[in-house]
Amino acid sequence: MKLKIKRTLIFILIITMVFSVAGCQSKPKEQEEGLFKAGKYVGEGQGLNGPIKVEVTVTSSEIKEIKVLEHKETPGVSDLAIKNVPASIVEGQGLAVDIVAGATWSSNGIIEAVTKALEQAGADINALKTLPVKQEKEKKTTEKETDVVVIGAGGAGLASAVSANENGARVIVLEKMPKPGGNTIISGASYNAVDPKRQAAQGIEDSIEKHYTQTYEGGDKKGNPELIQVLVENAYPTIEWLESMGMEFKPEIHTVLGGMWPRAHAPVKPLGTGFIDTFMNYIDEHKDQMEVMVNTKATEIIMENGKVVGVKAEGPDGDVIIRANAVVVAAGGFGNNVEMRNEFNTQWPDLTKIKSTNHPGATGDGIAIAKTVGANLIGMEYIQLLPMGDPNTGSLSGNIEQSVENRIFVNMDGNRFVDEGARRDVMTKALFEQEDAFMWVVLDSQNYPTGDEKNHFNESINELVAAKRAYKADTLEDLAAQIGVDPSNLVKTVEDFNAHVDSKEADEFGRTLYQWKIDKPPYYAGARVPTVHHTMGGIEINTEAEVIDTNGNIIPGLYAAGEVTGGIHGSNRLGGNALADINVFGRIAGKNAAAYK
Ligand code: ADP
Repeated sequence: MKLKIKRTLIFILIITMVFSVAGCQSKPKEQEEGLFKAGKYVGEGQGLNGPIKVEVTVTSSEIKEIKVLEHKETPGVSDLAIKNVPASIVEGQGLAVDIVAGATWSSNGIIEAVTKALEQAGADINALKTLPVKQEKEKKTTEKETDVVVIGAGGAGLASAVSANENGARVIVLEKMPKPGGNTIISGASYNAVDPKRQAAQGIEDSIEKHYTQTYEGGDKKGNPELIQVLVENAYPTIEWLESMGMEFKPEIHTVLGGMWPRAHAPVKPLGTGFIDTFMNYIDEHKDQMEVMVNTKATEIIMENGKVVGVKAEGPDGDVIIRANAVVVAAGGFGNNVEMRNEFNTQWPDLTKIKSTNHPGATGDGIAIAKTVGANLIGMEYIQLLPMGDPNTGSLSGNIEQSVENRIFVNMDGNRFVDEGARRDVMTKALFEQEDAFMWVVLDSQNYPTGDEKNHFNESINELVAAKRAYKADTLEDLAAQIGVDPSNLVKTVEDFNAHVDSKEADEFGRTLYQWKIDKPPYYAGARVPTVHHTMGGIEINTEAEVIDTNGNIIPGLYAAGEVTGGIHGSNRLGGNALADINVFGRIAGKNAAAYK
């Protein structure tokens, strides 16, 4: 009996060994079972504005295809991430792909979604995340020659480029980011101009003088009167210039936050994409004379005999040297350069931890480069904050306000605390004094007649509510309960506000801009915090957009336009004046740079 058991055991052992050996001799486990379970898998990740859904198709050994099925990312800003990140994952067959600069949230959201899908496919995620060894490319120096070189492909730079070409120049635009757009493309895009047609149609009284006075006084009379005059006089003709190139603006005029008056024009295309598309279409049609070099960061303005003769830059393949007759600096502000903010900030509490609405390239390079060749810097201490940042990202997206007249701000107690039609600095200072520097924007369904109605950032109110970036309720009490403020306070706050809408009299905070009462449910609320938005200071220019040096002389051949310049907006920029500024002065800079001999 004992022996029989022993024999049986030996037999089992031998059989096991045979199978094991057979197993060892076959293909490695990985290949036999594959890297993935072949099929299609759907995964979801978190982008900047909401979930991103992807479908990943895998064979047993390969990531075959990645389709982005759904996303709510900002048009123009996320496009490159939506296109490139899936392509890079497929090309590299791994998850350690480069984030698209300027679209970090979208890139990470896509990687997260693909990771979730691949997990379902049984992939070894850690192995897929291991960095592939990159081949160092051999560096070379690229040298080019043109008439005008423009630093920065935001609104001001592209306006300069187009205008220079219209005036006969060949143009090269250098852009350090992987795509054109800068802050312009992610802005709310409101453009102030005294408009004889649209304002009249809405019965809005306005004048160039009023625009001038509000700009000058809104900046505490620190702005240069001559530059302001050029701005307000040319704002409308420059809209006509944009329209002549195919850009479309909506017929309705609105008052933008801190704009002080209903003279803001909204482009038909979302955010600032209309401006950038218009200029890029022009550039595309004039390819023989114009070029935009992306991923190319200007580092130095080349001077010879006291005159500008070109720009040095770092490109993807090495150094770039562009010889040119004239240079336009249009590299934007320094809202995203914390060190520079701290160096110059005198107006605000410590800004180190305050987020920004700006794109990551807004680091003040243009100011630094121009300073090296003697440019005078003015108003550097004037940094604009908005009370309108998304609490998580600092971005303007998710902002539910449609027009200044129709919404109120309440603090965590459900009480108002400021004139919501005031200057941007006034509102933001008041917000800093509230608990946690945190507020709710409250408005009603007249701003959103349907759930599909969109805000200025191309997001429908339904999407915002679904993502819990906005709250919706049929009563103010319910809204208060959802956002955690005292219901009786909120009800009383709205009642008091509505009484002023009836009387049209200034309230205790001095508010005078009213349109309709907040009394048509559903009601909506959205959270907001202070955020760094615009830097008013920068390179000093004259009315011809020529750069002035520290001795008050013109630097021959050097022009500047847009947020990189200082001296126009004084201590506080009127909402809606930046788009006017960058286009008006961009156009002037380009024209004069083309004519420079
Ligand atoms: P503006 O509104 O004045 O046009 P934007 O922020 O819209 O300002 O655009 C400025 C552009 O300049 C951005 O696209 C930014 O990436 C680019 N830029 C900033 N620094 C450099 C640099 N050193 N070289 C090339 N481009 C730059």
